[in-house]
Amino acid sequence: MYRVTREIHFCYGHRLLNYDGKCRNLHGHNGRAVVTLEGPALDRLGMLVDFSHIKGVLQKWIDETIDHKMLLHRDDPVLGYLQQKGEPVVVLDVNPTAENIAKLIFDHANSQGLPVIEVRLWETENCYATYTGD
Ligand SMILES: [Zn+2]
Repeated sequence: MYRVTREIHFCYGHRLLNYDGKCRNLHGHNGRAVVTLEGPALDRLGMLVDFSHIKGVLQKWIDETIDHKMLLHRDDPVLGYLQQKGEPVVVLDVNPTAENIAKLIFDHANSQGLPVIEVRLWETENCYATYTGD
């Protein structure tokens, strides 16, 4: 088996609903997604997936969809206000935890045909969450 890994850096804001800690307040992170692809065979160039292809698919989507946006649960009471003011928000059916953001990125990579096996989302220098699919 071969594996390739690409890191994608982005900034996001969020807060957690029904949470008794600092993350219940609106705040932001410098996130780092570490995306790993795996497959048994290489192409004629000797690559599993070209790093630039991963960038073209995933970094572009992250830049357009998540980067410098507020990620909020659909029940977050501040959502209506931000949308009314034209602020960019990403609405999730789940709390915007590192775990769920890792899954969001994983699912998009998967939907684009990338043979993703793991997304690790570093939320801080010391904490990360990993999603590896079902
Ligand atoms: Zn946070």
